[in-house]
Amino acid sequence: MLKAITKSNLRTLSGLIQRFQSTLVVAEHNNDTLTPVTLSAITAASKLGGEVSCLIAGTDCAKVAEQLSQVEGVKKVLVAQHDVYKGMLPEELTPLILASQKQFNFTHICAGASAFGKNLLPRVASKLDVAPISDIIEIKSPDTFVRTIYAGNALSTVKCNEKVKVFTVRGTSFEPAKQGGSATSEQVSSATPVGISEWLEQNLTKNDRPELTSAKIVVSGGRGLKSAENFKLLYDLADKLNAAVGASRAAVDAGYVPNDMQVGQTGKIVAPELYIAVGISGAIQHLAGMKDSKTIVAINKDPEAPIFQVADFGLVADLFKAVPEMIDTLKK
Ligand SMILES: Cc1cc2nc3c(=O)[nH]c(=O)nc-3n(C[C@H](O)[C@H](O)[C@H](O)COP(=O)(O)OP(=O)(O)OC[C@H]3O[C@@H](n4cnc5c(N)ncnc54)[C@H](O)[C@@H]3O)c2cc1C
Repeated sequence: MLKAITKSNLRTLSGLIQRFQSTLVVAEHNNDTLTPVTLSAITAASKLGGEVSCLIAGTDCAKVAEQLSQVEGVKKVLVAQHDVYKGMLPEELTPLILASQKQFNFTHICAGASAFGKNLLPRVASKLDVAPISDIIEIKSPDTFVRTIYAGNALSTVKCNEKVKVFTVRGTSFEPAKQGGSATSEQVSSATPVGISEWLEQNLTKNDRPELTSAKIVVSGGRGLKSAENFKLLYDLADKLNAAVGASRAAVDAGYVPNDMQVGQTGKIVAPELYIAVGISGAIQHLAGMKDSKTIVAINKDPEAPIFQVADFGLVADLFKAVPEMIDTLKK
């Protein structure tokens, strides 16, 4: 006998579907701490329902594995330690993920949409012969995700029919998972080294200011600053506010600042509590990287500058007058 499908039946069905999900989050870390985007990926994974496991691979990552096991929502931590995971090369991590997938049959595999995740997950997806979904900003259901297109000007809702859903998570769209979990930990044997690439060294920029993508306040400068020397104004302002300093692509292309400071479609995506745009016109490619900031302040001498359309507070002024005044006020 056929039964009518009621709303309550549908709810029960979707609850059951969610319960059978099992997600693997690939953790990004530096053998000392987890990256904030990994915590955001765990929050996203928790929204799928079902069980969340994390895979952590490294050379000496016991301390981070311990941190991971205390993250809310994580049920199981898979730990793989081997010299071959130095530098977290995707060539070496992929066989490890595939072996875990074979063993546990996850329905979803994800990581943060950082350089690490963007480098790794397409390779994993290709080996699993599934299409990956990149940089998701929302989860509608276990097979339906939202991501931005056209430099953030449109949202695309994607239904994924692949047997395993492989995706990266935009960190600014999901709150980082909090402490408060008590996951079990399991050592997994490392896969046979592939040996086609070798990690030699990395040179990290030393910076006393907060990291751009996780700072609560970001002060960004554009072509309006006119020179590398004038960026000192923004560094002084940032130091008063304990802020990170970002830049538009025009400022990077003009050589005022290095390209790791670029915010936007082809730069970093930030969503701080406060974003102060100084001498930036507000091109869509720049907005794509900062328009989710909680409060946006714009300083621009052109009252028609598009940045004022997204700004919560706008100051039509010459930045060379306004910024020193702000610094003086903050000194008092
Ligand atoms: C494929 C593609 C990807 C891109 N990706 C990015 C990206 O990731 N990030 C990004 O930022 N851009 C990106 N761009 C470039 C983008 O289109 C703009 O060219 C760029 O953002 C402009 O930077 P700007 O606002 O600093 O410069 P401008 O557009 O030249 O604006 C300078 C602003 O400073 C103001 N100004 C000048 N002097 C003063 C003063 N004394 N006081 C106050 N205000 C002053 C002016 O009124 C003006 O509004 C991309 C472009 C393309 C095609």
